[in-house]
Order: sequence, then structure tokens, then C-alpha cells
Amino acid sequence: MSTLRFFAIKETLNRKSVKIKEEKRRSEIFAENVYNTKKMRQTLTSDAFLSLTNAIEKGSQIDRAIADQIASAMKDWALSKGVTHYTHWFQPLTGATAEKHDAFFETIENNEAIEKFGGSQLVQQEPDASSFPNGGIRNTFEARGYTAWDPTSPAFIYGTTLCIPTVFVAYTGEALDYKTPLLRALQAVDNAAVAICKYFDKNVKKVNASLGWEQEYFLIDSALVSSRPDIQLTGRTLLGHASAKGQQLDDHYFGTIPNRAMSYMRDLENECMLLGIPVKTRHNEVAPNQFELAPIYEEANLAVDHNALLMDVMDKIARRHNFKVLFHEKPFKGINGSGKHNNWSLSTDTGVNLLSPGKTPMSNLQFLTFFINTIKAVNDNEELLRAAIASASNDYRLGANEAPPAIISVFIGEQLTSVLNELENVTSGKLSPQEKTDLKLNVVGKIPEILLDNTDRNRTSPFAFTGNKFEFRAVGSKANCANPMTLLNSIVAKQLIDFKIEVDELIAKKDLKKDEAIFNILREYIKKSKNILFEGNGYGEAWEKEAKKRGLSNNKSTPEALKVKVSKKALSLYSDLGVMNTAEVEARYEVELEEYIMRIQIEGRVLGDLARNHIVPTAVKYQNILIENVKGLKEIYEKDFKKVSKAQLNLIEEISKHIESVNNLVNDMTEARKKSNQITALEEKAKAYCDVVKPFLENIRYHCDKLELLVDDELWPLTKYRELLFTT
Ligand code: ADP
Ligand code: MG
Repeated sequence: MSTLRFFAIKETLNRKSVKIKEEKRRSEIFAENVYNTKKMRQTLTSDAFLSLTNAIEKGSQIDRAIADQIASAMKDWALSKGVTHYTHWFQPLTGATAEKHDAFFETIENNEAIEKFGGSQLVQQEPDASSFPNGGIRNTFEARGYTAWDPTSPAFIYGTTLCIPTVFVAYTGEALDYKTPLLRALQAVDNAAVAICKYFDKNVKKVNASLGWEQEYFLIDSALVSSRPDIQLTGRTLLGHASAKGQQLDDHYFGTIPNRAMSYMRDLENECMLLGIPVKTRHNEVAPNQFELAPIYEEANLAVDHNALLMDVMDKIARRHNFKVLFHEKPFKGINGSGKHNNWSLSTDTGVNLLSPGKTPMSNLQFLTFFINTIKAVNDNEELLRAAIASASNDYRLGANEAPPAIISVFIGEQLTSVLNELENVTSGKLSPQEKTDLKLNVVGKIPEILLDNTDRNRTSPFAFTGNKFEFRAVGSKANCANPMTLLNSIVAKQLIDFKIEVDELIAKKDLKKDEAIFNILREYIKKSKNILFEGNGYGEAWEKEAKKRGLSNNKSTPEALKVKVSKKALSLYSDLGVMNTAEVEARYEVELEEYIMRIQIEGRVLGDLARNHIVPTAVKYQNILIENVKGLKEIYEKDFKKVSKAQLNLIEEISKHIESVNNLVNDMTEARKKSNQITALEEKAKAYCDVVKPFLENIRYHCDKLELLVDDELWPLTKYRELLFTT
């Protein structure tokens, strides 16, 4: 094994960066492989084009004859670009993307063949796909699921395949994927937000949620990864002593991008351009070999698709560059992990960002309405937000003394805090003309100026307002954004619906003017949402205590965090909005618990193997060398040998102690797994894995890492942290 380690290092040292040609401007190749509006216009009859744009913008049905036309035009466009296959591209509950390719090729009579793609193939497919997790939905209802075209996310060419974004649902209608509930949540927030916008502007007909994600990742040489079974099988290091130099010097953050990583990024960005993923920003992150990539924000459904596609593309392109890209939230102990900030806002079809202060008092009141309602939604559903980002891998990052904590809070900055404080003192009921003028001019009217110099950005907040958007920072780097986006848009939709009911009631019953009613309700919301607002250091221990006093949840583990997903409140939130019915929510809960259990189980098995079959034999080998040495010393020094072999004897003993601990702990962990596996209730089983099995991982690691410090470097089989992080 140690030979593999040294071979891998040698391979890595000999790597050259791959040459990348960028012959055309990015704006020229952007979306070249996407069947977007421009291509639709070029290739469709005006009837078909109109029907498709109506489906995209208004969700109207496309009839079969038109679907045939669209399919045929898509096929011709794809064939002209060398495409041979098509696939319905979807996102099952594994969180990854799924595709099953079919050739356009068909045989006809007389042993001849043609390329064919009809409307029915475009609109609906039946991939068997029965092996994807479904939380029992398909067992209890109907064995088959089908995929159905989502025209709001344009088809694209990836390699030689035409990919058609689709939803994946059971024949009984239950969602088996991430996209279906997301689309429903986006519809819900659209309806609810449009109704509120009507208070301010009657022309608003549609509100889109926007998402701009920031993807963090590590790049590790593929040979080095091959020498580490833990990274290969679990995406993270299960052992390894810290490198003497890690990220203490902050010399990687925003530093010059290393050559090989740079050519990887250029290659990746090139592919992203062709696929219409508008990537814009790249830089080194805090940890060695850690990087970040961010696009220009887009409509949320498209942005979610693009992020899912991006992760797949990143993985593929990494191979060309002899890299493995790690999306795990905590690949290395003791240095920063990776997240995926989800920047979120709402904007109207009239071009207004509802989370951006405007130019007039009225548009600022609209801003405050959406701003305060979002805060209220987070306040009332903080535990659900935490649940939406829970996963076995994100648990190693959240609340692990490194950003962000498992407590959800909202940061809004000093200036907006003072605006809210002033609004809190608004008179109850009717406002005097003087108060109205004062509010409009001095409180609401001042917002844009204030925000301009609101540069205060709290990096420790899991949910921060950053000028014209909220940034949900606790999302895991590996996560599919659909999950947090479905939740966030749902809770905001629900909140806006409640707000409208309350405002309308004040107008009808108390005879208040519209703006008076809005001020009144907002005032109450500010009072009720105080607990969630926090401007201090989110990583500090003091905050944990304070948050507890405030009654905020602090669910550090996934099984604990997930529970609220099936609470009465959550079930009715989703069913009231038509986002998910009880069966769908419960199925997801089950799938997530199962995944949690399996992740910990795999980690346990891999670490057991590494500890027992790699580390212990190596330690024994080195111990034998020491024993031989002591025997030799005894031969020479006879009775006095103890004096000269003191250090060796100590080492021999210390090694024995650690070997014993490793052995016992591995045995105990295996027993704990066996016992946990017998538990049939899923919730309990997950809890057992969390409370009983998982702690062994840290304990076993402790002894292995101690052995790493004792054993001869030449013999050590596993590539060390310093080599993983600093060999380039
Ligand atoms: P950082 O958090 O690192 O300071 P930036 O401020 O550069 O990052 O923005 C990060 C992301 O926010 C980008 O993906 C960008 O597209 C997105 N973003 C900017 N404005 C909006 C908006 N109105 N709605 C949603 N996302 C946005
Ligand atoms: Mg950010």
C-alpha cells in the first residue's frame, strides 16, 4: 500500500496542466448547445413557437400536433450538431441527475432506417427507474413512474445526447423527484407574491423567484484520491493527521489560482458557456485546494437544473485534468469545509426586484413588505429551514465550530435594524397625517441611501440580507438546491398569503387605508420576529446560549433535524399550498433517513477496513522493526540495554496501546452496527446510527492518527494530509 502512496505522489508531481484553447468569445458561444428561445424562433412555425412560449410563461398545455412539430424541430437542430441520442433528464431523490439514452435511430420496412423523434417521446417517457429511492411510494401505489417534459427549462445537448429536463412522477401523481415540488412551490410563491404586488402595482402578473448559487469544491489529484479508499468511497478523509501547515496563513484565499486548477476552470467554464450556464466568478477559497464558482443568478428552477448539471459536468471535466472534484461538505478535518450559498430574491415581470429598495416611498414600502414577510417566514419556520439542509455530510460542517452553526438566524445589518426599530413604534390603528408623512419621508424614504453604505456583511450568519437578496448560507456543497428552494419559497408563499388576509381584514373591518393596514401588520410582524434576528458572531458559544434562551432550535444531527419535516405544521404547510401531500412528504422523510443510515454505515465499514487492514498491520510492522532493534541492543549492551533502548521500548508500548484500542473499537463498532441494523423503525435506527455508531468514527480515527505520528513515514500506507493538500 505504501507503494501506492508513493506512486501516486510521483504521478502527481509529473502532471502537466492541460492546454485549453479559447478561440471564440464567451458571449459568442453562450448557450450554443441550448434549445433556447432564439433557436425556437428560428426552427418553429409561429404557431408552435407561440404555443411553447405560452407553456413556458403561463403553464398552458401544448397539444399533440404542436408537440410533434416541436419534437421534430428539436431533433433536426440536434442532428445538425452531431447528436445521436435523446434522454429525459431528471433529478431523482438521490439528489444526482439521471438519464437513460435512446437513439433517434429507428428501423422501417425494407431493412431501412431513419432518425425519428415524435411529440409523444418528447412529452412523456417511462424509464423503468425502479431502483431509485421512493420512500415506499411506488410499492404502495403503482410500480411504474414516468417522466414528463418541463418546458420551462430548455433542452440542451450534452456530449452527443439531447437532454430534455423532466419531472419524475408516479402514475398516481406523487412526485418521485426534486423538481416536481419545486415547480409547485414556485407556482405558490408566484401566486402569493402577485397578490401582494397588486397593493402597489396593478400591472404585475408574474413573480419569479431567482437563485444565484455559489458552489465551493476541492480539487485533488486523481492518483492521490486512488491511494485513499476513504475519499474514493465516502468523499471525505476518515483519518489522517493534520498537516503542520494548513490554512493558518490564509495564503490560499483569493490567491493566484494554481495552473492546473486554472486550466480545469477554463475548460469547465467553456463547457458551461455552451450549456448556457452563466458562470461568472472563480476564485481560490480558504482551504488549500479549495475553490469557488458562481454564476449570474437565474430563475430558480433553471438555476437548480443548472447547478445539478454543473456538478455532473465538473465531475466529468475533472477526469480530463486528472483531478477528482470533492463536493463533500467536510473532506478534511481541521480545515474549512464547503458550502453552497443560495442567494434568493423575488422579481416581477415588470422588472422590479422585490427585495431591492426602490426610489419612491411606495416602492420602499413594497420592499419592506417582502423583506419583513421573509423574516417572519424564517422566524416561524426556522426548524424547517434547518431540516431542508440536513444531511449526513453537512452534519460534519454545521455546528462543528465552523461556519455556519446549526442554528438558523437572520442577519440584516445595523441600518435595517434601525429601520425596523422605528417601524415598531408605528401607532396602532389609523395614522395621523403627520406620522404618515414622517414615516414615508424619514423612515421608509431613507432606505435606499442607507443601503448604499450598508457594507457590513456578517459572514457567520446562515441567512443574511445582502442588499437586494437573502443569502441562505447553510446549504451543503453537495446538496441539490431544489430541497432548500422548495422550502424557502413555500414558507414565503404561506407567509404572504397570511399577510394578505390580515391586511385585507384591517382594511375591511377597521376602515384603514391600504398603507395604514400594511404598516400595522408589519409592525406586529417585527415584534413577533425579533428572536430570529441576530447580528453577532454566529460561531461563538455565547450565541448558542443566547439562541437557546430565545427558543431557537439547535439540531446538530440529521435525524434530530429531519423530524420536523413530518410535523403537523409542515404537512399542512405543504398540502395547503399544493406543494406536496402527506404521502410525498413522508416518503421523502423516509428516503432521507435511509440515506443517512447508509452513509454512516458505509463510513463505518470503510474505516473499519482501513484501521484493521491498513493501519494495524503497518503499526505491527514498524513495531517489529523496533523489537528487532531492541533485541540487537540487548545483544550488544546486555544488562545495560534498557538505558539505551528506553525510547524504543516506550514506542513499542505506545504502539501496542493504540493497536489494542483500534482493535477493540472496530469490534465494538461492528457490534453496534449489527445491533442498530436490527431496529426496524427507521427513525430509531437513524438515531442509533447517529448516537451509537457514529461516535466510533472519531474514536477510531484518534488512535489511527496517533499511530501516524509514531510510525516510520516510509511504511505509512495512506497518503498524508500534507500530500493531499499540497502536492501539485
Ligand atoms: P459573495 O456572497 O461571495 O459576496 P456575490 O455578492 O458576488 O457573492 O453574489 C453571489 C451570488 O449572488 C451570485 O451568484 C449572484 O448571481 C447572486 N445574486 C446577485 N443578485 C441576486 C439577486 N437579486 N437574486 C438572486 N441572486 C443574486
Ligand atoms: Mg456568498
